[in-house]
Amino acid sequence: MFVERFRVQSPNVKYNEESIESVYDYETTELVHQNTNGKYEWVVIPKSVRYHFNTHTRVPKLGVMLVGWGGNNGSTLTAGVIANREGISWVTKEKVQQANYFGSLTQASTCRIGSYNGEEIHAPFKSLLPMVDPNDIVFGGWDISNLNLADAMARAKVLDIDLQKQLRPYMQDMAPLPGIFDPDFIAANQGERANNIIKGSKKEQVQQIVQDITEFKVKTKVDRVVVLWTANTERYSNVMVGLNDTKETLLASLERDESEISPSTLYALACIQENIPFINGSPQNTFVPGLIEFAIEKNSLIGGDDFKSGQTKMKSVLVDFLVGAGIKPTAIVSYNHLGNNDGMNLSAPQTFRSKEISKSNVVDDMVSSNAILYGPGEHPDHVIVIKYVPYVGDSKRAMDEYTSEIFMGGKSTIVLHNTCEDSLLAAPIILDLVLLAELSTRIQLKKEGEAKFHSFHPVATILSYLTKAPLVPPGTPVVNALGKQRAMLENIMRACIGLSPDNNMILEYK
Ligand code: NAD
Repeated sequence: MFVERFRVQSPNVKYNEESIESVYDYETTELVHQNTNGKYEWVVIPKSVRYHFNTHTRVPKLGVMLVGWGGNNGSTLTAGVIANREGISWVTKEKVQQANYFGSLTQASTCRIGSYNGEEIHAPFKSLLPMVDPNDIVFGGWDISNLNLADAMARAKVLDIDLQKQLRPYMQDMAPLPGIFDPDFIAANQGERANNIIKGSKKEQVQQIVQDITEFKVKTKVDRVVVLWTANTERYSNVMVGLNDTKETLLASLERDESEISPSTLYALACIQENIPFINGSPQNTFVPGLIEFAIEKNSLIGGDDFKSGQTKMKSVLVDFLVGAGIKPTAIVSYNHLGNNDGMNLSAPQTFRSKEISKSNVVDDMVSSNAILYGPGEHPDHVIVIKYVPYVGDSKRAMDEYTSEIFMGGKSTIVLHNTCEDSLLAAPIILDLVLLAELSTRIQLKKEGEAKFHSFHPVATILSYLTKAPLVPPGTPVVNALGKQRAMLENIMRACIGLSPDNNMILEYK
């Protein structure tokens, strides 16, 4: 059974006019390695820590500024939201298709909230806490190519032509602002489309981005802005002492127009300066140490890296399943070919390297969780190949082979083949990222005994379900397993309304 919305009735929850207050007992464990009667042993001590949450429930009018707005993802997301907002349907060779938000965790998935007369009851994920309705988002942003969004949608070749025709009037007057272009950071083959560029020194470029955000806010009358990078994958920036290792060195490098500061870092600098959440949807190391330090100091939300859309999402499910089942993956080989502009950009070795890095570490936490299967330092062979094949366009092919050792020296090989429009996978993820980033800035928490509420750590691990290489605060474990990432997000939202995590024990029937 399905309920659209619900309210929690409990002494631990108070619904106020503009906020929800909740008290939540966080059940965890503490480990000690102690000497008992001359022998060292591990002792696990259950621990309960009381937290107080306070969630502002007034949902702002949200503006989303995309870096790379005219790209495949940017134009597809904008088109998809307009189609949903306007209730557009279109004719395909199979049926009349209605606009929807399939693929969005917040808009198209549900959570179990309990059972009623022996039936499981589910509610929309988005009903857990008040969230921005995607249909109300105002889009804007930058692109180094000046095509308006209607032409950008046509260039992307992602959406059905009947839908494109209906969307054109809504999108033809949407023009991306000039972007920061540095040919040193993306593939040389991108130079051709770069006809919409901010001039000046790096410092002046940052100032221009700040001005663009301010003007967008005034023009669109939005209350809050979130900026998200969905522009081309850049090469990695060098991280060096004196260049970008601290906030001071990074800001000093900006002053002297240092060439090694990437465009994505410049956009992020502008956002942090203005306390605007900034999310990185590509794999490069936009968040150099000095930038992370700056974000922490300003308490300005940053999240990333690289949308977890297809192959990696499968990997973070499949390897979790295998290792969790006591099966030992020993070789994981992933081939991709794609023919969109992203694929063309990734055909250069430096940008491919960024993608390779972000795709590589995704099984680490699962492998290191099982010392029965893997010895110290042991790791499956893990190879990633990406090829540019223009003919397939945005319809990416992903082929994966997982070889594992099973019972008594046996081998098991699983082969997957996925064909799918890349941008139709990424667009709903972008939506979730901006909606959840906005929501998380409205949540305050404190431990029992602490005097003041505070926001989540500005490095937004809460977004990790949606990213391939989750950015975490220094010293925090990285979780890649998809199920755990989803549970973290859902359970934090449940805690905000005083509900404990769904424990799946179903004791009432046992
Ligand atoms: P795309 O090439 O179609 O779009 C990128 C856009 O960014 C282009 O229009 C380009 O002109 C613009 N651009 C480049 N540098 C810019 C800059 N400095 N400032 C402003 N605009 C700039 O690519 P896409 O398919 O939309 O993918 C975008 C990014 O998302 C890529 O880095 C890709 O690797 C990443 N990504 C995509 C997926 C997916 O499933 N589609 C998954 C993970 C990551």
